Amino acid sequence: MIVAKTLAEFAQAYSNLENKADIGFVPTMGALHEGHISLVKESAKRCSHTVVSIFVNPTQFNNKQDLETYPRTLEADCKLLEECAVDIVFAPRVIDIYPQEDTRVFDLGGLDNYGEGPRRPGHFNGVAQVVTRLFDIVKPAYAFFGEKDFQQVAIIKYFVKDLNYPLTIVPCSIIRESDGLAKSSRNTLLTPAQRAAAPHIYKTLCKAVELKGKYSPKEVAAILAKEIDENPELETEYIEIIDADTLRPIENWNDAENLRLWCAVYARPVRLIDNIGL
Ligand code: AMP
Repeated sequence: MIVAKTLAEFAQAYSNLENKADIGFVPTMGALHEGHISLVKESAKRCSHTVVSIFVNPTQFNNKQDLETYPRTLEADCKLLEECAVDIVFAPRVIDIYPQEDTRVFDLGGLDNYGEGPRRPGHFNGVAQVVTRLFDIVKPAYAFFGEKDFQQVAIIKYFVKDLNYPLTIVPCSIIRESDGLAKSSRNTLLTPAQRAAAPHIYKTLCKAVELKGKYSPKEVAAILAKEIDENPELETEYIEIIDADTLRPIENWNDAENLRLWCAVYARPVRLIDNIGL
């Protein structure tokens, strides 16, 4: 496993890969956990080579404090990846990815009009900026993304198709702690009291299944938000039942074929997101 910390180091390691037509790619921001590792394993299973990037992308942070406090643990990350079949860890500097300001504005097909989009202005455009740059450098045949970031996967699929990238996006299931909390790099920033409260989010989301027969989608969302907020450590920012294909919040249960329930909840100042299929 080669750890490339500059574009030049990456180019050198890349030139030694035998089968460049069958590269699996896992983009991450580091502070790796089993959620990330599940994507790496999926790549190793499917592809001749696996490249993992570790890059805390400044253009997708709309909150300066979030960018500054984002955990950075490169050494521990590399130790974890050593145990997977990874060929290259690409941990570039900002200047390698953005030699000058990236002013590109992407067509995201309106999929950024919902959920995280309006609450994190510029976030998904920043994701598109970094992901396209990384795709251009790594040229993968497959790229693996977690459904933990459900909206992100939908948006990436959209612009990959729109821009004719010759690669397949593989969505991977959410990996959870044994108490149900979705694994996240941000979980390490929770206080013990917040960490103890956080599983309440997933437990509450799961109640939607039984409430579905009795209430409208909006009523169910309101009931769940109230229940999450009963915990003093938690504060729901939004909870919505959406059409999983268009990401639009639904009014009636038969408005869409595939339903998803998604939410963002503050354990201040940390912001947690989660989702389940309905
Ligand atoms: P991040 O480092 O948070 O940008 O995440 C990198 C990739 O790992 C993204 O595709 C995430 O959706 C995915 N990921 C993060 N947490 C999980 C999880 N708990 N289960 C599955 N995938 C995850």
